[in-house]
Amino acid sequence: MSGRVLVLHTGGTIGMARSPDGYRPMPGFGAVLRRQLAGVSGLPAFDLVELPQPIDSANLQPAQWTTIAAELVARWDDYRGFVVLHGTDTMAWTASALSFMLRGADRPVILTGAQVPLVEPRSDALANLQAALVLAARLECGEIGLFFGRRLLRGNRSTKSSSTAFDAFSSPNAPALAEVGIEIGIDAGQLLPAGARDFARPVFDPRAVAVLTVHPGLSARQVDALTDDPALRGLVLCSYGAGNLPDAEPGLIDALARAVARGVVVVNRTQCAHGPVVQGAYATGAALARIGVVPAADMTLESAFAKLHVLLATHADPARVRTLFATALCGEMS
Ligand code: ASP
Repeated sequence: MSGRVLVLHTGGTIGMARSPDGYRPMPGFGAVLRRQLAGVSGLPAFDLVELPQPIDSANLQPAQWTTIAAELVARWDDYRGFVVLHGTDTMAWTASALSFMLRGADRPVILTGAQVPLVEPRSDALANLQAALVLAARLECGEIGLFFGRRLLRGNRSTKSSSTAFDAFSSPNAPALAEVGIEIGIDAGQLLPAGARDFARPVFDPRAVAVLTVHPGLSARQVDALTDDPALRGLVLCSYGAGNLPDAEPGLIDALARAVARGVVVVNRTQCAHGPVVQGAYATGAALARIGVVPAADMTLESAFAKLHVLLATHADPARVRTLFATALCGEMS
């Protein structure tokens, strides 16, 4: 293994420029970035690879997770760490998916990006990229992390929590892994140790997983409309508080039970940023436990969604997917 770091550019604001319709990925960003970084001292040795079509990450599809993972895996033995430049909108979704696809990673992968494009005044791009590069060259771990603002977070614990702040990401149920100030403070005890590679190469069906947010007035018909799609194999239910939904609504539990009975893996994630689902703390949540809904503990929405996608793309048996979903696989739940 060399001491070099690979930077993979996938798109996002970091590499965008103004257009009449707002920011768009700019052609030739790689050359601009190389020029900018050439003037920065103290960086580890790195190579830069760009995907042929960098995207606004709002356009991300699960298939792109496979593309990004394949780009990393193809070069895995040549680098001691990886930095993935990614749009902020779906960075936490991709970081989560990569963590389940690259289980047992034996070197760090760090996603980062920017709130302000590199080519604009007051951009946060260089600061984020420099810190991510230094961490990717220094950390001895198997983390799929996300660096933004000042902090390195575990990717599958992170969520975009501000559309404007430079500290755009938070990790509500897990501590930061490193803080970058005058010193770089690494919380080594929190890092996932390097593992034995157990990489997956899933072929995703984008229609396999959906998200349903519980809200006052949610009806059985609305649940049926979503779950009647024969392509649907997994559903992330975003419930209230400790994992509750309106069990007084006629037919609502039955509609979910029908979906479970036909093999849809339904998981229950709280709408609260902090804290876990405890199905059964209230009678309104106990009904979900009775029909076979799996609690998502304190996983982020992004992590629950990505975990379900990866498990469904790699296992045919819903019972096995339920068991694995309830198991901590790579630091995604407490
Ligand atoms: N829409 C952009 C993206 O996710 C936002 C960003 O990168 O900050 O690609």
